[in-house]
Amino acid sequence: MAKKLTGIAASSGIAIAKAFRMEVPDLSFDDSQTDDPDQEIVKLDQALATSTEELEAIREKTLNDLGEEHAEIFSAHLLVLRDPELIDPIKQKISDDRSNAAKALSEVTDMFVSMFESMDNEYMQERAADIRDVSKRVLAHILGKPIVSLAEIQEEVILLADDLTPSDTAQLNKAFVLGFATDIGGRTSHSAIMARSMEIPAVVGTKSITESAEAGQTVIVDGLDGEVIVDPSDDELAAYRKKQEDFEAQKKEWAKLKNEPSVTKDGVQVELVANIGTPDDLEGVKNNGGEGVGLYRTEFLYMGRDELPTEEEQFEAYKKVVEEMGEHPVVIRTLDIGGDKELPYLDLPKEMNPFLGFRAIRLCLEKDDMFRVQLRALLRASAFGNLKIMFPMIATLEEFRQGKAMLEEEKAKLVADGVQVSDDLEVGIMVEIPSTAVMAPQFAKEVDFFSIGTNDLIQYTMAADRMNEQVSYLYQPYNPAILNLVKMVIDASHKEGKWTGMCGEMAGDEVAIPLLVGLGLDEFSMSATSILPARSQLSKLTKEQAKQTAEEALQMNTSEEVKALVTERFL
Ligand code: PEP
Ligand code: MG
Repeated sequence: MAKKLTGIAASSGIAIAKAFRMEVPDLSFDDSQTDDPDQEIVKLDQALATSTEELEAIREKTLNDLGEEHAEIFSAHLLVLRDPELIDPIKQKISDDRSNAAKALSEVTDMFVSMFESMDNEYMQERAADIRDVSKRVLAHILGKPIVSLAEIQEEVILLADDLTPSDTAQLNKAFVLGFATDIGGRTSHSAIMARSMEIPAVVGTKSITESAEAGQTVIVDGLDGEVIVDPSDDELAAYRKKQEDFEAQKKEWAKLKNEPSVTKDGVQVELVANIGTPDDLEGVKNNGGEGVGLYRTEFLYMGRDELPTEEEQFEAYKKVVEEMGEHPVVIRTLDIGGDKELPYLDLPKEMNPFLGFRAIRLCLEKDDMFRVQLRALLRASAFGNLKIMFPMIATLEEFRQGKAMLEEEKAKLVADGVQVSDDLEVGIMVEIPSTAVMAPQFAKEVDFFSIGTNDLIQYTMAADRMNEQVSYLYQPYNPAILNLVKMVIDASHKEGKWTGMCGEMAGDEVAIPLLVGLGLDEFSMSATSILPARSQLSKLTKEQAKQTAEEALQMNTSEEVKALVTERFL
């Protein structure tokens, strides 16, 4: 009997395949002593041997798919597994203290991890991260609960998970993972955003998909309407195959607009640009007719690895993006870590409210050694194209001034060393915090541009966690409170001869687009797959109509009233 679950449409398209459940094993163990130390040593040796085989296979695959540089981390992990200085003390502990294998492994590896982490030496800190990763794998084998790596999925599946972290999502191979559905998460959670860049249909926040489907059952993910169907009937399968075909046909229609300008029916031009997470996303930007990059989320360069990326690595990535986009603008955002984007190797303390905590620019200004490496890489890349720098999560003018001063200092050093840097580099900020929207007139005198990050601006204005589906009804882009803040920012920038873009998900939303055109937004930055539908929509409306509608909307009482007005006039 088919089951239908409703969630949040996170990434468009329809996918149909067998369910694959991502299980995160419980690695807790009892710490009782053993009567048979020899047996525990055999258990440990077997777990080490299986882990070695697994890592060799992963290393081989990574080497073939991604190259030597990415495979190196697994070579380092293999070295840890073979290191007698680590393995011997574990065995010693089993024989001397009669600890069971799991306990001995955890205690010894924890001891090495804390010792290496406390050293003021980058190399030793990397080794700590390697040991932590490897010991988790070995522990899983000792407990008989092996960890499945998402990168190893080799058949067409729909991935079902309680939640997916951004680094889980980054590992997905879209040739095999045709779609995914999760229990938790919202439309602006980062795994949803990444699914859109990767063009993988996804539904998040279903609350109970992991309880509703068994591995191997047929599942349909409808990323257009936010539904997941488990074990569909033949009629349902046929209906969704038809819906899939219709969507493909619609995409072909949109594709005709790929090289057309982004103009309204009455000739007003705006910029339609894309949000990207890695240089690999540029292919999607070009295929979808993007006129540049309005947000490059650089944190993905820092994730899914064990150490900070070097200046050289960052320079190469940024240079590649600006070079590939040629004349087109590329707005690169400095590191925005925190919230739902974690970097385990920074070992930041757990916080009660990570979205309100030590994150993004706050962390970068404090850890300025790390920040300056990124600034230097950006400055060097600026000589190769139309690069603009943007600071995330700015709450006060002082933060902007401090960040800008560091940028100027690094620029002066590079210039003194004879390194070429662009001399008309624009430096702007994201408007994600209500204080900054309200202070836009003051900011506009100092920044070169604004980019409104509505994913966070809405969460902070409405006090509603963007990851929590229980309060997702408060994610209201059309609420007059949000529209008035957006208007304040756009008006303030224009008064100073500056421009305003928007890189939150609202910029690609069909109800919001007419309102934003009416409010005078200059640049719309969105998931690449939203660009062509947006261009099609723009070509059918006039600026005059849009302006009139926006003015009425600003005075309305509720988000629903605004939505009804726009729907009646434009959709
Ligand atoms: C935003 O907050 O709107 C934004 C674009 O940044 P992120 O989604 O990465 O937090
Ligand atoms: Mg944000």
